[in-house]
Amino acid sequence: MTLQVQDRVSLKPFNTFGVDVQAQQFAEAHNDADVREALAYCAEQQLPLLVIGGGSNLLLTADIPALVLRMATRGLRLLSDDGQRVVVEAEAGETWHPFVLWTLGQGLSGLENLSLIPGTVGAAPMQNIGAYGVEIKDVFAGLTALDRQTGELREFSVDECDFAYRDSLFKRQAGRWLILRVRFTLQRVAHLHLEYGPVRQRLTEQGIDQPTASDVSRAICSIRSEKLPDPAVLGNAGSFFKNPVIPAALAAEIKLQYPGLVGYPQADGQVKLAAGWLIEQAGWKGFREADAGVHRLQSLVLVNYGEATGLQLLQLAQKIQQDVARRFKVNLEMEPNLY
Ligand code: FAD
Ligand code: NAP
Repeated sequence: MTLQVQDRVSLKPFNTFGVDVQAQQFAEAHNDADVREALAYCAEQQLPLLVIGGGSNLLLTADIPALVLRMATRGLRLLSDDGQRVVVEAEAGETWHPFVLWTLGQGLSGLENLSLIPGTVGAAPMQNIGAYGVEIKDVFAGLTALDRQTGELREFSVDECDFAYRDSLFKRQAGRWLILRVRFTLQRVAHLHLEYGPVRQRLTEQGIDQPTASDVSRAICSIRSEKLPDPAVLGNAGSFFKNPVIPAALAAEIKLQYPGLVGYPQADGQVKLAAGWLIEQAGWKGFREADAGVHRLQSLVLVNYGEATGLQLLQLAQKIQQDVARRFKVNLEMEPNLY
């Protein structure tokens, strides 16, 4: 047995909220054999298994009566190259942002808008990570997952992942699929997405009118660093709520009362609202109760000032949900995975 299983481990260093709960048992997987060993161990001990990556999309509300397995597998490779399109593969435990930088270093574009997102490659398909107008589904080539029910390996194509806005089959079937490695189709000639938010403006300010993919990555890193709290300094899990997509008629009704409403029309005729704007209008920006709070610059981000418990953060989130529902008739859905 190479898997090192430890008893009663604090998960504080393993979740970006910095919530201090304990795992009944804890281990790290460095290869596929470790993963299989963890599954066998849990079956033998009749213990649940919770797989984590960087812990940047978790809200831990109590001690975890399970084996918590942190994915620490490593490996980056080029699988094919036709001179234009290159398929790359990364192991689940690779950290996302260094992986993005590695692809840029290979002269490949496609992931630049997803720069500086915390977490691991293996968790990225869970909620089809997205930022600045790009989601991984746009460049996704496939993944290999282990079916925890049967122990069999399964390859998934983009259609089989059933990706949606911050959602996928893997999130909907939580606990069934253990993602081992993920593949992306990237381009040797960049097709850049600059129209979203302040990206082009930041490049213009920097005097760049013919940007490379690396220029876009650097611009996005600088925007994100200014707007988002660094979890190493202030505990958080990024956006706490998804942006709600609502019927156009309801958006028009809200706009009558709030002419400044921010809304983005969707292809299906609905309208996506900025959840952060709704929370700010409801007066929650900068709110703090004990050590649980709403970030003073970005209302979509709940923060842990030090000793907040997961339950305190959850209760704050629920109060915000109730208030926003009462004021705007809009339901905010939580984005982090709750345990
Ligand atoms: P974890 O939090 O460890 O796990 C998340 C879920 O995935 C859990 O349910 C876990 O059980 C499961 N899981 C983890 N690894 C595997 C695996 N290998 N196989 C099966 N299941 C697995 N998200 C965005 O989409 N866009 C952003 O721009 C963005 N910005 C962020 C900024 C900040 C400051 C923070 C803190 C978070 C941000 N996030 C963003 C959220 C988060 O970074 C992403 O969702 C990320 O993909 C989570 O990766 P992780 O490895 O930390 O996953
Ligand atoms: P922002 O630029 O202030 O914009 C606010 C919201 O409006 C965003 O959430 C975005 O929705 C939406 N939006 C802005 N421009 C848009 C456009 N041209 N078309 C459609 N929708 C538009 O947002 P931010 O908080 O600084 O975040 C910037 C990007 O990083 C966003 O894409 C955001 O999703 C992502 N991000 C995600 C997390 C997370 O934890 N999930 C954390 C930080 C940042 P979308 O969110 O749908 O893109």
